[in-house]
Amino acid sequence: MNNFINIFEMSPRDGLQNEKNFIATNDKIKFINKLSLCGFRKIETSSFVSARWVPQLADASEVFMGIKRNENVKYTALTPNEIGLDNALKVNVDEIAVFAAASETFSIKNINCDIESSILRFEPVINKALKNKIPVRGYISCVAHCPYEGNVDPKIVSQIAEKLVNMGCYEVSLGDTTGKGSPDHTLKILEECLNVLTPDKLAGHFHDTFKNALKNIEVCIDNGIKTFDSSVGGLGGCPYSPGAEGNVDTEKVNQLLLLKGYQTNLDIQKINECSKIALKLKKDGTYD
Ligand SMILES: [Zn+2]
Repeated sequence: MNNFINIFEMSPRDGLQNEKNFIATNDKIKFINKLSLCGFRKIETSSFVSARWVPQLADASEVFMGIKRNENVKYTALTPNEIGLDNALKVNVDEIAVFAAASETFSIKNINCDIESSILRFEPVINKALKNKIPVRGYISCVAHCPYEGNVDPKIVSQIAEKLVNMGCYEVSLGDTTGKGSPDHTLKILEECLNVLTPDKLAGHFHDTFKNALKNIEVCIDNGIKTFDSSVGGLGGCPYSPGAEGNVDTEKVNQLLLLKGYQTNLDIQKINECSKIALKLKKDGTYD
């Protein structure tokens, strides 16, 4: 399937982690079960980070134990450290992700250490996951712009991406956390990354704060990228990036890709139903 593009659904993690309301565990489970019927190959289900950092996702283990797994879906989670990984392994997470930032200040505020030490800290996590045959994805946040430092040098992004792949990540998702990346800037980032990595090692993760996300996705497609992260209903944002809006809306990405003649294998009707639930979760914090 040469014209297949993979949409990686982020809403239960990237979406819900930034909602003010704590969504009841059972409502999260219902939401993820519903998402499981849309045709996604992967759903980022939760995050095994300290409950002190992300109280919204403190129930990651309960969520993983409660969901009805669709055998065609891989259920993934963020695991920043070995404790998180151990907890993830206990509940049979299919795939994990580690995350670094491309800006020093953001890294210190978000992950509590500089870029270099954050990457070093992933080493035992990645090694242990791979030993357990769990694929590891890497995220880089603030690839275009940092809320504290402004524009980010694309060279730094490509250096981190290359390191993450060399450490064992099967793919690195380039996150425009603030949504300020223009198509021109995105192209520069891609050019740097494609100097050191092939397009199948890269994915696009765009927030839609300034309505650049779809244009940036088109730039990525033109450069051979075939995986994009999105959230139904455009849920969420980033708690450490003030004012940042949610991930680009899954429905919009799907529509764009279909218009351009790509296959995504998603059920448009079911995604639409999930978007409505997402908006309900956002509005009053409940599923029904
Ligand atoms: Zn995000």
